[in-house]
Amino acid sequence: MTDLKPIPADWTYAPAPESRDIVTLAAEYGHFVGGEWLTATETYETIAPRDEEPLARVGQATPEEVDAAVQAARDAFLNGWSSLPGSERAKYLFRIARILQERSREFAVLESLNGGKPIKESRDVDLPLAAAHFFYYAGWADKLEYAFPNRRPKPVGVAGQIIPWNFPLLMLSWKIAPALACGNTVVLKPAETTPLTALLFCDVLRQAELPPGVVNIVTGDGRTGAALVEHDGVDKIAFTGSTDVGKAIQRRLAGTGKKLTLELGGKAANVVFDDCALDQAVEGIVNGIYFNQGHVCCAGSRLFVQESIAEPLIEKLKQRLTTLRVGDPLDKNTDVGAINSRMQLEKIEELVAAGQEEGAEIYQPPCNLPEKGYWFAPTVFTNVAQSYRIAQEEIFGPVLSVLTFRTPEEAVEKANNTPYGLSAGVWTEKGSRILWMAQRLRAGVVWANTFNRFDPTSPFGGYKESGFGREGGLHGLEPYCTFDDSETFGG
Ligand code: ADP
Repeated sequence: MTDLKPIPADWTYAPAPESRDIVTLAAEYGHFVGGEWLTATETYETIAPRDEEPLARVGQATPEEVDAAVQAARDAFLNGWSSLPGSERAKYLFRIARILQERSREFAVLESLNGGKPIKESRDVDLPLAAAHFFYYAGWADKLEYAFPNRRPKPVGVAGQIIPWNFPLLMLSWKIAPALACGNTVVLKPAETTPLTALLFCDVLRQAELPPGVVNIVTGDGRTGAALVEHDGVDKIAFTGSTDVGKAIQRRLAGTGKKLTLELGGKAANVVFDDCALDQAVEGIVNGIYFNQGHVCCAGSRLFVQESIAEPLIEKLKQRLTTLRVGDPLDKNTDVGAINSRMQLEKIEELVAAGQEEGAEIYQPPCNLPEKGYWFAPTVFTNVAQSYRIAQEEIFGPVLSVLTFRTPEEAVEKANNTPYGLSAGVWTEKGSRILWMAQRLRAGVVWANTFNRFDPTSPFGGYKESGFGREGGLHGLEPYCTFDDSETFGG
């Protein structure tokens, strides 16, 4: 085994901080209801996870404030938006997409500041994809009858949308773009730790002159989310978040007739065969689990390596880990940023401690973690048994569990041995083996010789405890349409 050392000092990069001057924050934000700012009755502080700096106070929406937002969405639905020709709705979506592109640096800086993700990811992944989603669904707005031939799609009504903190603006666009394209109006609640880009987005809505009430944004924690779920005036709930909350929402909505889509947790298998391009696979594994600090529901958190190449692969992987730069999310050279919140850091620490107690072998590259803020070093566990908590539970952090297999059949059996089924990866040179594996892996997305690739044209969603319903692509329109011509809408 090679002696693993940190990069020599003369190879390190000079600091390259992105200026945060482009972002102007208000001291306090209310809720965006009917195109106006409604002063929040209760507020809390949102911080920067890199150093716990207070950034602004934001509202904790009460049931009354949620009600005002739902009413505004209903009014907008009835008073023009749902009957607007698709080609007109498309114009607003195209406008929003273009404004996001124009203001992408501002959004990227704010996303990294409030969420902790490296600026190169928010700049090169989150923002381009968010704009791409609006462009893509703008294209569908006047073509819904071609999307669903002979089915006469109509909007559902008011959509309540609840999103997580790992891709705040991107999840917002995954939710809002298809909803608007199909003629629905929206009340969206961002996650409590990352409300700021959703609040800045309200400025984009005004700039785009979107009619008031078509999109309403209320901030707050799970209580606000629950008030939205329970509101009688909401026709559809779209939720992305933890499996536990997803299950509670499903129970709450049973029998109400409200439409529901759930995108929940994951514990993806990344399966590496001995005929793969090894260096390419190592890059894919690193991208699969350390991208966005592993705060990714489809992260490749379980690595299955064919036994014959386990030793050289693990050695290369550890070597690669020593070159990852962990630190300030606003530094353009940073590969791994800050953990999103203290709560999430504690969850990661707890599961990593469980892994050590259960007998797995831990490896962390030498790295100097900043003193303030929330940080966790990229971690690899070897000697992992399938029964260990680190192989079963979603950690949602930069922690990889390595397991081995001998035959493709064994790989499939082990990969599918999970309550989740969101994504999977296969690394092999043989096309036939990729197809053989893809047919057998119970996962909504199977990547081959790549990982964590997203595209607005491609549907995304899970099996089993990873949820149901698809977002993205043609499939992503369906949850925002209703097809029964006898149904009445808006009431
Ligand atoms: P995570 O573990 O990723 O924080 P959560 O499921 O707790 O996932 O959070 C995802 C989103 O769901 C957040 O916007 C959060 O505020 C919201 N949320 C939490 N609890 C509830 C609830 N009981 N009902 C509705 N939304 C909730």
